[in-house]
Parts: sequence; C-alpha cells; structure tokens
Amino acid sequence: MPEPSPRDKIVVLTRLLFEQSPLCTACISTRSNLAVTDIEPTARRCEEMIPVKREMAHCKVCERWTLVYSLFGVQRKA
Ligand SMILES: [Zn+2]
Repeated sequence: MPEPSPRDKIVVLTRLLFEQSPLCTACISTRSNLAVTDIEPTARRCEEMIPVKREMAHCKVCERWTLVYSLFGVQRKA
C-alpha cells in the first residue's frame, strides 16, 4: 500500500480528533494507521489550519494519563 500523503494524514488526524478527543498518540496511531512518530509532525502541519492542543490529561479511549491531542474549540466535556 502506498504511504498516505502528508495531506491525507492531516485529514485523518483532524477527523479522528474531531470525532473523539482528547486522544493519546497510541490511540491515534491504532485508529488512524499513522505511525506514532508521524503524529507530532502531522499535528504541526495541521496547525497551519486548525490549532491543535496538546496537554497532559486522560485519554478519552484508553484513559491513561498521558500527553493527549485535541482540537481547539471542539473538545467536549464528558
Ligand atoms: Zn489512549
């Protein structure tokens, strides 16, 4: 399978974070097929369009207290 383009990765990441956030890198990776090492560079590219928030919090999916990503303005309170 061809490597997804940087643009595809941004689309995948923003869609994922829009649907469910905050998410840790491990959960982003399993749900998006992005390599863990790809997430930060993709988030940085993403920020040219949408601000990405990084913080220490509980991941919505695995509930680990770790570095999680979310999109500014779309984080929903549980
Ligand atoms: Zn997680």
